[in-house]
Amino acid sequence: MKTSDLFKQNRPIFSCEVFPPRDIDAPGAEEKVCATMDVLKEVDPDFVSVTYRPSSGNAQKSTLTIAKIIKDRYNVEPVVHLPAAQLNRALVDDFLKKAKDAGIDNILALRGDIPKTGRVSDDFHYASDLVAYIKAHGDFNIMGACYPEGHPESPDALSDIKALKTKVDAGTSELISQLFFDNTAFEKFVERCRFAGINVPIEAGIMPVLSAKSAQRMTEMSKTQLPDKLQNVIKRFGDNPDAIRDAGIAYAVDQIVDLLAHNVQGIHLYTMDNPAVAAKIINATRNIIRA
Ligand code: FAD
Repeated sequence: MKTSDLFKQNRPIFSCEVFPPRDIDAPGAEEKVCATMDVLKEVDPDFVSVTYRPSSGNAQKSTLTIAKIIKDRYNVEPVVHLPAAQLNRALVDDFLKKAKDAGIDNILALRGDIPKTGRVSDDFHYASDLVAYIKAHGDFNIMGACYPEGHPESPDALSDIKALKTKVDAGTSELISQLFFDNTAFEKFVERCRFAGINVPIEAGIMPVLSAKSAQRMTEMSKTQLPDKLQNVIKRFGDNPDAIRDAGIAYAVDQIVDLLAHNVQGIHLYTMDNPAVAAKIINATRNIIRA
């Protein structure tokens, strides 16, 4: 099933993201993801997306194997991530063929981070090039990433929105946002998108802060701002692992409730291979998401 059909329903979509193992052939690798899926299945997500780790030896196999397990064993719609910076056309063709053979209908088309060693080829300079290529070479629903507080490489919000419009016009059906902690920033971003004529559904990416260190890492990597409220939480509870985890979960729940109250089109939960935390967040918001 194409996820674009899900978004046609008049209700918020709820999805989760899981990491494939670094080495799918390592003992216990599949079981670890299945332990996460056992929990996620209980909360009935609309779809589960599977990341792609270009740095791992057999990234393609890991992502596609886990996506197939999610589809066949759990009967949940998978979305596979495909970052193109380290790929060329031949490798993308191979991925698309294997994805089709595995019964996968949805691809999150990404440029990916540019490796320090440089690009493998310039076949896909931006994600929009990959979107156009997939559109022309396969029957997939294509999703894309977006950045409510701007992509770290973008000089300003305007050029980021212009680039996003190009990506959507190339054939992107839905967008999943980078994580953020300031709902107002997300809502203003959605307004800017609509003003620019970007009218596809936009899911809000939510990741709970579970330690002071993880908050620092998340903001460094993603250029996401920590609102004063969350900074105070980290200052007050950051030294107490149990307290900061509970406070981070409560903050994420509060964000989700507020987004749903403002009619967000979807919530995408970054589970970080931590099904216990994902379950707490989902159980606290389950009735609200489906209300
Ligand atoms: P693009 O949309 O190409 O944007 C990259 C930069 O180029 C931006 O600054 C943009 O403004 C600019 N740009 C784009 N098009 C143009 C244009 N035509 N002219 C001028 N400038 C332009 N990475 C992984 O390796 N694996 C994953 O599984 C993965 N999953 C992700 C999931 C989500 C939801 C998100 C938000 C990110 C994910 N990433 C993943 C990270 C992503 O690969 C990086 O953020 C990467 O740096 C950008 O990818 P993109 O697809 O957003 O790129």
